[in-house]
Amino acid sequence: MKILYVEDETDLARHVARALKGAGHEVEVRHDGTSALAALKVDSFDALVLDVNLPGCSGLEVLKTAHAMRPRPVTLMLTARSEINDRVAGLNAGADDYLTKPFAMEELLARVASMGRRGQGATAEQIVQGGGLQLDTQRRRVTHGGQTVALSPREYDLLAIFMQSPGRVFTRDELCGRIWERAHDYDTRTVEIYIMRLRKKLSGPDAPVIGTVRGFGYIMNFPTSTPSA
Ligand code: CA
Repeated sequence: MKILYVEDETDLARHVARALKGAGHEVEVRHDGTSALAALKVDSFDALVLDVNLPGCSGLEVLKTAHAMRPRPVTLMLTARSEINDRVAGLNAGADDYLTKPFAMEELLARVASMGRRGQGATAEQIVQGGGLQLDTQRRRVTHGGQTVALSPREYDLLAIFMQSPGRVFTRDELCGRIWERAHDYDTRTVEIYIMRLRKKLSGPDAPVIGTVRGFGYIMNFPTSTPSA
């Protein structure tokens, strides 16, 4: 993938850029928000790896600009553990995934790889169906009534959990534990944001509904009259 990587800590930036290149990516590094915006104006990228706390204009500004572009790059946001408000703002602004600093290099590479996996072909297919939804677990792709639903990797993971156990109630803690590897990478607000985003993306009369089970968690219900899609 062609990646724009924005990070003001130059040592970390050098280290991460080298690892991304080692994984076969083409990487352009910028150290502040203003020059990141300039790079976005002259070039197009498949992915954006973005430190939120930047000198110049903020990472959130960069995120908003990137997300107005077509095709829009997938975005992995990097935030410090204490920057929960930034993380929430970033997810609301459309970031696809996030990683808290400090992170292990393998984890960053895995997240980037998972962002790139979208839309790529696979030979064997495994399809999970429910309502008008089709989940292709090999390609990590979802269609609704034949139309592709654009999901971030975490949104996909969340949906896959529900689709694979229809009618089951999941607690927030269980969902968190299955989606995020490290406990400090999430909080309940983050899970709520992902649920909200999934609900929005799955709207429509025949779409499955993610219901809230008060005081416990969430459940996915499929519409009773199943449309053929
Ligand atoms: Ca920073």
